[in-house]
Amino acid sequence: MFLEPHFKSQRSGWIEVICGSMFSGKTEELIRRLKRARIANQRVEIFKPKIDTRYDETKIVSHDKNHIVSTPIENSKALLMLTDEVDVVGIDEAQFFDTDLTDICQELALKGIRVIIAGLDMDFRGKPFGPMPDLLAVAEYITKVHAICQHCGNLATHSYRLVQEEGTVVLGEKESYEPRCRTCYQMGNILSFNQAREVRNEK
Ligand code: ZN
Repeated sequence: MFLEPHFKSQRSGWIEVICGSMFSGKTEELIRRLKRARIANQRVEIFKPKIDTRYDETKIVSHDKNHIVSTPIENSKALLMLTDEVDVVGIDEAQFFDTDLTDICQELALKGIRVIIAGLDMDFRGKPFGPMPDLLAVAEYITKVHAICQHCGNLATHSYRLVQEEGTVVLGEKESYEPRCRTCYQMGNILSFNQAREVRNEK
């Protein structure tokens, strides 16, 4: 479990990243950290990209319905205008933000803000997702959380897409994705590649 660092003698900010596959508990962990900061009377603001409206317009909702109220924003620049007089900034679904997010988070940290970011580290192709790799590089603290592979029960690191759609952003829940370990993820890709080839051969 992540515990906050002890240095608080001078006002210095930092960046924390919580990453992992779908259904790994990223948002849960983000909410846990933000709620603890709030209990300590710290001023907390939470943001998410406008694109993510799966559950609710203004709440960040984790898969087990724990939630916290957030502000949907169009792009990462909006963070600069909305974070005056704030101690802690939470950002959910960071993978959907533009690449300016990394610089902006660093600016916030320099202003003395604790920035906590949650996001998918890989897209459904298994490639680094949006600004996440850069954020991981500049963060002081990184927590990689894991789901459980639905096929073999090992730790899952990948988000396997169950539906045949090509775009990188397909918002969805359990009907569209399942968490898989590296091996089962690869196996699924090989199988669907072969299936696609069979369909092509039949034509
Ligand atoms: Zn597996």
